[in-house]
Amino acid sequence: MRRVALVDYGKLELQENCESIQALKPGTVKIEVTACSICGSDIALYHGKRSLENERYFGHEFSGIVIDAGDGANGIKKGMRVASELSRACGHCWNCRNGLPNYCKSMNDALLPGGFSEETLVLNTPEYSFISPIPDAIDDITATLLEPANCAYHAVRQANIKHGETVVVFGMGPMGLIAARIIKSMGVDVVVGVDKSQARLEKIRQLGFVDVVDSNDENWQEQILERCGAEGADVIIELTGALPVLQSAFQVVRRGGRIVVGSVYSGFADTVELLPIMRKELTIIGSKGPYPHLKTDGTSAAVDILVKLQDDLKQLISVYDYKDALSAFDDMMSGSAIKTVIRFCK
Ligand SMILES: [Zn+2]
Ligand SMILES: [Zn+2]
Repeated sequence: MRRVALVDYGKLELQENCESIQALKPGTVKIEVTACSICGSDIALYHGKRSLENERYFGHEFSGIVIDAGDGANGIKKGMRVASELSRACGHCWNCRNGLPNYCKSMNDALLPGGFSEETLVLNTPEYSFISPIPDAIDDITATLLEPANCAYHAVRQANIKHGETVVVFGMGPMGLIAARIIKSMGVDVVVGVDKSQARLEKIRQLGFVDVVDSNDENWQEQILERCGAEGADVIIELTGALPVLQSAFQVVRRGGRIVVGSVYSGFADTVELLPIMRKELTIIGSKGPYPHLKTDGTSAAVDILVKLQDDLKQLISVYDYKDALSAFDDMMSGSAIKTVIRFCK
């Protein structure tokens, strides 16, 4: 069994001939991982912005085949194609009872050792599951976008966007691009992405499915107002994690507007002028995905999103074979690729 292990901050290792995972704990399924995508939070862990002591899993955006279904809860059977996402929460813990099923359990309880390993265990009980079955319409590589699509959809839902509103998404990484594409699919005409990476902007302009503004341009705020109207944007989705960007969001949002923060800030905001929160009567909403977005039949809304938008979304992906996994991390960190996926081909 092969895995990509983060042995210390900044130190990745390709480990071959690892022992196969033997013990299947009750309520878990065993997955043979086909592919795993690299998330910004994996990079944060690599750089020590998150603590290795606290994280017991590595890789949470994966697809694969069920090789042992355990007790087979939720109809999960051996041989099924699945992908990771929070698809079910217990419904009766304090978090679930208070409308916060995304806090039901931590990923530490759900994944072992995670998707950068050829085999992983995933929690799957009638009360909690971190996998969803994948239809034939989605290939294994695209299926690794299920968890980020789930998180992006959560940010969109937190924004409570209505027809005719204008939306600006700061940070055109995978989350921002997926969120922008979902918002457009809902019939919202004005969706503007903002980024400063030239390589990324060029790529997004080639893809052509979202309008972008270069925040290096001197008049970039005017460019946003040209698109959203002089009062400012109705909704801002902030996904950069950079505090100066939050400051910019205060400037280009309209009075009474909403700002959804789905990015991970570190440090304190003593350089950000907070007065606009009161002066403009802003609503600031956090977004922490993944979240169990279930349809009334109990299946995943995020899977539907992926099926519907896959032609655009799969273009965000660059695929690396296991042996090139370290390049997949390098290219994700340098920004030369938008979304890198490691494939465990035999
Ligand atoms: Zn993720
Ligand atoms: Zn719960």
